[in-house]
Amino acid sequence: MKKNEKWLFAISILLLIIDLGVIVISNLTPKIILNKGDIRIALNEIYQEPGYHAFKGYIDVTDQIKISNKINNKKTGIYDITYSIKDQKKEYKVIRHVIVEDRVKPDIILKGQKTAIVCPNKEYQEEGFESIDNYDGNITKKVVIQKEKDFILYSVYDLAGNHTETKRNIEYKDEKAPIITLTGGNAYSLYQGETYKEPGYQASDNCDGDLTKQVKVSGNINSKQVGNYQLTYEVTDEAGNRVTTSRSIIVIPKPTNGKVIYLTFDDGPSASITPALLDILKEENVKATFFVLNRGSNLDYLIQREHNEGHTVALHGSSHNYRHIYSSSEAFWTDMSIISQKVQSLTGTKPTIIRFPGGGSNTVSRFNPGIMSILTKEAKEKGYHYFDWNIGSGDSGEAKTAEQVYQNVIKGLKNKNNIILMHDFNGNYKTLHAIKNIIHYGKQNGYTFERITMNTPEMHHRIAN
Ligand code: ZN
Repeated sequence: MKKNEKWLFAISILLLIIDLGVIVISNLTPKIILNKGDIRIALNEIYQEPGYHAFKGYIDVTDQIKISNKINNKKTGIYDITYSIKDQKKEYKVIRHVIVEDRVKPDIILKGQKTAIVCPNKEYQEEGFESIDNYDGNITKKVVIQKEKDFILYSVYDLAGNHTETKRNIEYKDEKAPIITLTGGNAYSLYQGETYKEPGYQASDNCDGDLTKQVKVSGNINSKQVGNYQLTYEVTDEAGNRVTTSRSIIVIPKPTNGKVIYLTFDDGPSASITPALLDILKEENVKATFFVLNRGSNLDYLIQREHNEGHTVALHGSSHNYRHIYSSSEAFWTDMSIISQKVQSLTGTKPTIIRFPGGGSNTVSRFNPGIMSILTKEAKEKGYHYFDWNIGSGDSGEAKTAEQVYQNVIKGLKNKNNIILMHDFNGNYKTLHAIKNIIHYGKQNGYTFERITMNTPEMHHRIAN
């Protein structure tokens, strides 16, 4: 070859190599390389792209990559990210899987106490629980309960397999005392002379249930005596927890509006009147005062009956013989002591209330001047209260019928203490027949009936001798 030909040949070869090189390069396909491959992320976590590259041969074509990303990080699942390059009408792509997963444990919320106190004789009663998962929502139904002696284990898995368990401890003991409930509250009042009626009580214990029958009641009430009293109620449960409570009982004087009737009967007892009179008083629940004389011993039972049925047995004297009793102080008190001792032996109670025959204002004693002034003073010194009256029924004098006795009494009534003089001597039927109407009138007109006691204000006539 000639020298020129050699050069031409060399250039041709070079061009051919270049040409072949272009052909080789243009025939290479792009290659996409992902950093890290598949990726797992938690719910709500923001996907961080770990990076990617693309080469065609030795040429970096990364900037030609198109990415399609449909990740929803609010929803668990497997999402594809597609990295693709178009080259000479062909598409080359690589896929990265992104797994969005729930990694949060569910919660178990116990209702009631984390450490439950259970009665020694009882089983734990489930107080309830709830399980909430951040993703699955309420999964209470999936909770599995395992009962052991001293605890309960609650465990649950969510759909993603996250596991939670929680424990409720159980302690068997009774630390609570029973409770006593007093019916009608812890204060009670009653009128003097009335009978205390227990309004009732109940005792219950958290472990032992009804303990009412085990309640012990202690304390004393003297309803005859005005004052404050206390009843104590006590009970102890099986575990030895003791409770006491008390009720205060107040005995108060009977209230009055000032309108009080004291029925008083002098000169008894008598076989014809006194028993029937006592029957009526009993039926009407009215207490009265009997100023008795020393009648025959066959009538002693009537004095006892008067006392036993709640009336006041007071003294009028033994003989009712004015000439004798008002002849001297000695004669009077000797006469009085005979009936006093008799009444005391019949009733067991020493009488302290008296009425002078003829009343404190009598003039029949004027044959012995000044005797009533002496006797009324001595009565006080001897500890007696003496009572006259402010309404005379007239039943030992001018009144001839029950109607007249009734009218005399009701016409005399005033809005204050009314001490009515009547008699239960033999044959005094007009009083016996008037008494029921007098009682009814009094009750219908706001009067209360009382017997005379040492608390009753004394009522004295003006002394006339
Ligand atoms: Zn008399």
